[in-house]
Amino acid sequence: MQKILFSACLCGFPVRYNGSAKQIVSEQLDLWRQQNRLVTFCPELAAGFSTPRPPAEIQPSFMGQQVIAHSATVLESTGNDVTQRYILGAWLALQMAQQHHCRFALLTEGSPSCGKHRVYDGNFSHQSRAGMGVTAELLARHGIEVFSEHELLLLCQRVAESDKQAIEIP
Ligand code: SF4
Repeated sequence: MQKILFSACLCGFPVRYNGSAKQIVSEQLDLWRQQNRLVTFCPELAAGFSTPRPPAEIQPSFMGQQVIAHSATVLESTGNDVTQRYILGAWLALQMAQQHHCRFALLTEGSPSCGKHRVYDGNFSHQSRAGMGVTAELLARHGIEVFSEHELLLLCQRVAESDKQAIEIP
């Protein structure tokens, strides 16, 4: 049975930078929870950040891949360079996903760690741009299918297909 790495803030834990959660409620998630498929994780807390913490954005690009390649940085609104902690959180998320044999990840859109399609533009102006967070990028690079909370239906379809394949393989 395929497991799913799940952003802790989507699960309802108040671990976001401002001390809030971003809980999503769905019967499908309740079912996966009962089936013990959800591996709840926060890359930023795992990397040693506390809650609340200053907001952070990727600069000068919006690409987690450039952070991993050391050609972009993650800066807090205070100017503090937290790039290495974001990279650490991504690797810890990957380690957790691999330990639990997660094939999928359901992550929070817009986060510099977890964003799948969008992250904030680096100016702390509340404007988001197309781009991927550091953890989402690293997971995807290692073959884990990443979905945002807006793609829950798509994730349900992929999990169902994967379950079906597992049953068909003798
Ligand atoms: S790092 Fe991911 S799981 Fe943690 S608070 Fe940010 S979006 Fe949520």
